[in-house]
Amino acid sequence: MSSSTSNPEDKDYEECPTHGPWLRSIFDPQHQQWCSVVPIGCPACRRDAQLKTLLQRTAIPPRFANCAFDNFKVESPQQQTALDACKDYASSFEQMHAKGVCMVLRGNVGTGKNHLACAIARQVSKQGYSSLILTIAEAIQRIRATWDRDSESPETHTEIIERFADVNLLILDEVGRQYGSEAERINTFEVINARYLAMRPTMIISNLLPTEIILFLGRAAYDRLRENGGILVNFDWESHRGRC
Ligand SMILES: [Zn+2]
Repeated sequence: MSSSTSNPEDKDYEECPTHGPWLRSIFDPQHQQWCSVVPIGCPACRRDAQLKTLLQRTAIPPRFANCAFDNFKVESPQQQTALDACKDYASSFEQMHAKGVCMVLRGNVGTGKNHLACAIARQVSKQGYSSLILTIAEAIQRIRATWDRDSESPETHTEIIERFADVNLLILDEVGRQYGSEAERINTFEVINARYLAMRPTMIISNLLPTEIILFLGRAAYDRLRENGGILVNFDWESHRGRC
């Protein structure tokens, strides 16, 4: 038996066992007929399923799976400063999350930015928050998949942007690799802006200088990352790679 509940007016609701009533159809007085609200189904269930799909795709890249704060190599005061900033951010993530405090990790290749970003993601996950690490190119690819009518993606453009905004901590890597088009810059802004409006923290990892990050992302996106006490951590030492 259907659990549908009729309203004497012009709306027909169905009951989701988890989220309560959702609008199934609306009466069109002009044509004297009921019209289904599309997409059909509980919108909250759809949102949950889409977020789950997004999170399953990338949690922490396998090559960074063992990255933690206690195995980050500290040989200079600068490295200690970077480690402390990242540790503080992770341990106070509840407040950071509530205020939407963003973080920019920037500096030379091979200085441990990804290591510390993954350490943050791991700690944040232990606190029960969702986190997602992916490159800007992957994020754009994910958004573009919604444009393709033949794609398997069940989401619309707006929905995928909203799902990116649902993740508690989104970490965008490789900020500074060449954009293919202005459209990609707009997509990146959409993600950063949606998270800004939802007061969700975004982390950026880049090899660029701050002035170059501004050129790359655009001033508006960069300003959103630096608002509310956004934290900039510089990794201005030589590469670790090949000597650990
Ligand atoms: Zn539901």
